[in-house]
Parts: sequence; structure tokens; C-alpha cells
Amino acid sequence: MNNFEFKNPTKIIFGKDSIKKLENEIPKDAKVLLLYGGGSIKKNGIYDQVKKALAKVNIVEFGGIPANPEYALLMDALKVIKDEKITYLLAVGGGSVIDGTKFLSSAALFEGETPWDILSKNIRTEKGMPFGTVLTLPATGSEMNSGAVITRKETKEKLSMGGPGLFPEFSILDPQVIASIPQHQLANGLMDAFTHVLEQYMTYPTEALLQDRFAESILQTIIKVAPKVLKDPTDYKAASNFMWSCTMALNGLIQKGVPTDWAVHAMGHELTALFGIDHARTLAVIAPSHYKFNFEAKKEKLAQYAARVWNITDGNTDDKAYAAIEKTVAFFHELDIDTKLSDYTKDYEGTAEKIAQRFTDRGWLGLGEHQSLSPDKVEKIVKMAY
Ligand code: NAP
Ligand code: FE
Repeated sequence: MNNFEFKNPTKIIFGKDSIKKLENEIPKDAKVLLLYGGGSIKKNGIYDQVKKALAKVNIVEFGGIPANPEYALLMDALKVIKDEKITYLLAVGGGSVIDGTKFLSSAALFEGETPWDILSKNIRTEKGMPFGTVLTLPATGSEMNSGAVITRKETKEKLSMGGPGLFPEFSILDPQVIASIPQHQLANGLMDAFTHVLEQYMTYPTEALLQDRFAESILQTIIKVAPKVLKDPTDYKAASNFMWSCTMALNGLIQKGVPTDWAVHAMGHELTALFGIDHARTLAVIAPSHYKFNFEAKKEKLAQYAARVWNITDGNTDDKAYAAIEKTVAFFHELDIDTKLSDYTKDYEGTAEKIAQRFTDRGWLGLGEHQSLSPDKVEKIVKMAY
């Protein structure tokens, strides 16, 4: 097992009617900026629950953060933070609102030239403005990790940021919020969390036995609850297991001591930046060709995944590994998620070359758990995904 350090300071408040516990978490003398997205929280009652819990707190609001939080709009929110002398941020939303809030947490205390540097120069955030979250969409794990992904429309870029200063102080997870999520977003959440686990698990060599078992149990739970969540999002048993699986998939625990891949996300982010495809769906496009392209290197682990997660026991290592990829694609299709780039855009010619060039320009010359995925290999994988 690799050496590691592990600290996750985010307090999780999980369960039915937990939004009312907000009032215990935010300092009484704080001036709070309440951040939210396109307005779903005003239709499903979450906004009212938050406002009721914070009746005694001084609140300013900033709504309209879009899916794939956008830099220019966040800069407007930053102005509000400065003008209003905000001291605390509260994200009420899914990964986009939470990630946008993390950017603001960092940018509010940033002393460099322009906050874009945090993303383009990969500046880690050691200390940010304190913030908490009320999660409305299980998917990203952003509610209990210290990473964020921000989009810049004008340059069609989507870049990551992070650092120990970006853990939420608390996150409230009430599985009842799932009831109002549209089917395709539920599928996105299942897909994103599933892929988060694969990115940390489908690596080699295998030396972290416990982390493998953690990862496999999250994958198995997602597979088990997926049809139930999609059929009836008010099914509390399914909803609560779905929600906690998404958080556990990316709160740092399963990645400790193991080499992690993250190449699927790196390529997927480019597809969102170029075509606006939902984050989760870009992963469904890239993952199958990534595992096929890296078959020789990853086949032992793929075969382990086949046996332990999909109960595939027939055949040799190659047979099992290949069957596992097929099973995974079939699972994505059961979520009603397409797995080819051409399913999403007619404009796909040249995409592979463009992404390879971008990675070269950024100096991303070796992705994957062994930094062996050079831009020419990235080009081949994206082409296989057409
Ligand atoms: P999202 O973009 O936050 O939300 C997608 C849509 O779902 C929005 O239209 C939102 O509406 C709606 N929605 C959210 N909660 C709802 C509810 N309870 N009822 C009805 N509609 C609801 O989706 P996401 O998948 O959570 O986040 C995606 C972003 O996270 C991407 O930018 C991705 O790159 C990033 N990401 C971050 C991490 C990380 O670790 N930080 C990991 C993976 C992905 P409203 O706009 O009205 O709220
Ligand atoms: Fe993701």
C-alpha cells in the first residue's frame, strides 16, 4: 500500500428533516451569502426550509448558478461578497452550486492578480472563506471533499481546483430531496458516483485490499439501488443508500493508499467544455474506450471487478475482464445513458486531435495512475469513443 495522510474535517448531518438543523451550524454573527442554482429549490420546498432554519441570520442571496458553474457569473457573486462584507457562504444545490461556492471561498481570500490563476496555474487553496452546504442532488461527492471544477465559457475550458482549505465545514444530507430530481439527473448522479469509484479502483497493482473491498461495496450498492431510485425517488431506503454511496464514493477514503487514475474525468471535462454534454454522460462516453484501450494493463483488476461486483466467474482473466466492460456498458444503458460521442453531437470529427493538443499545450503529458497516458494515447481513446 502507498503511504498516505487522511484528514476529512467535514461534518455530515444525514437524515430525514435534517435541513432544520442548519440553525445550529452557522455562526450567529455571520453575514451569509446563500448560493443556489436555477431555481429548483424554490419549487421543491428546500428554499423555504432553509429560510425557516435561518430566520435569525443575516442573509444575502445569489441565485442562478448554472450546471457547470461559470467563471464570469461567479465573478459577479465575488463582487457581492466584497460589497456586502460577507463572512460565510452557504451552498444549497448539487455539485455545480457547491463547486461554485468552493471557487468563491477561495477567490474571496485570494491575494494574487486574478482568481482565474487559481484554476489555470493550479494554485492550491490552503485557507478559504468558511462555508457549508445543503445537498440537493447526490452525485459528485463535492459535499465532503475539497475539489471543484469550474467552466469558462469564453475559452471553452473546464478546469479543476482544490486544497485543504476547501472542505465544507458541514453538509446537510436529507435523502428526501431526491423526490423532485428529474429522471435524467438521477441517472447522471448514479453514473457520476459509479465512475468516481472506478477511477480510484480500476488501477494497478492491487495492494490495498481493504480499499478494494470498500470500492466494490459502493459499486454493488449503486447497482442495487439504481433501478429502485429511478422507479420511485420517494423510496427512502433506496434514496438514503444512494445518497450516502455518492458521498462515500468521493470523500477521500477509498483513494488513500492506492494509485488513482482520473483520466476518464480529464477527457470527459473536455467534452463538457466543447459540447456542453452533461458531466456524467461524458464519463459514459469515455470510460468504455479507456478500459478497452488500457486492457492489458488493467485486465487483472477488471477481472477482479468482474468476479466480485458482477459475479462473472466463467472464463480466463481476459474473458472475465472483457465481460466486465460489457456489463458496465449495459449498466450505463440501463440508466438510459448513451455511450458514444456521436449519440450527443454530429460535430465530433477532430475532437480527439483537439483534446490531445489541449493536453499537450497544458503540459498534461502523462495521465493515469502511472502517468503513462500521453496525448497521442488520449487521442486514440477519444477516437474509439466516437
Ligand atoms: P448540478 O449541475 O449541480 O445540477 C443539475 C441539475 O439538477 C440542475 O438543473 C439543478 O437545478 C437540478 N437539481 C438539483 N437538485 C435538484 C432537486 N432536488 N430537484 C430538482 N432538480 C434538482 O449536477 P451535479 O451532477 O451535482 O453537478 C455537476 C457538476 O459537478 C459538474 O460541473 C461536474 O464537473 C462537477 N463535479 C464535481 C466534483 C467534485 O468533486 N467537486 C466531482 C464530479 C463532478 P438548479 O440549477 O435549479 O439547482
Ligand atoms: Fe465526476
